[in-house]
Amino acid sequence: MHAADRRDKVAPVDIHAHFFPQAYLDVLAEEGPRFNVEYRAAPEGFYIKTDARAQGPLPYRVVDLKQRIADMDAQGIAMQAMSLTGPMSHWGDEELSHKLARAWNDSASAAHQKYPTRLFGLLTLPMLFPDRAIDEFEPREPITRTARRLHGHEHQSSRPRRSFI
Ligand SMILES: [Zn+2]
Repeated sequence: MHAADRRDKVAPVDIHAHFFPQAYLDVLAEEGPRFNVEYRAAPEGFYIKTDARAQGPLPYRVVDLKQRIADMDAQGIAMQAMSLTGPMSHWGDEELSHKLARAWNDSASAAHQKYPTRLFGLLTLPMLFPDRAIDEFEPREPITRTARRLHGHEHQSSRPRRSFI
């Protein structure tokens, strides 16, 4: 096979693609201020401010799925393994931390269902609260199995339901 033919058959996978679903941003906006975290939407982009750093303006293309797919098409990316970035879900109290993780995971699942061959989610868990992390992880095993496959380490575990990626 010629190199050019091989290139046509390659399906590039972006494994470092940040996703800020609106549902996660809504939780930030509503409950962040109690923990000195601010979210602000502006015409030029959105802003997130924590004690650790100020981000923004961040582009709405990391929120909007249609725009994401259009960007992937323009870049020749076949699949994205989407992940959350700062401020993550590892802060606040037990309830809020879990709520942030759930909002992200629900949205990533919905994105995968909408674009099952293009978008995948790398689960985020409220790791400061182990019981909550397990609660959030167990019903979502199919997502993590997909993510493990994507990363190329499908482990043979005697307790697969608890093997975190
Ligand atoms: Zn990153």
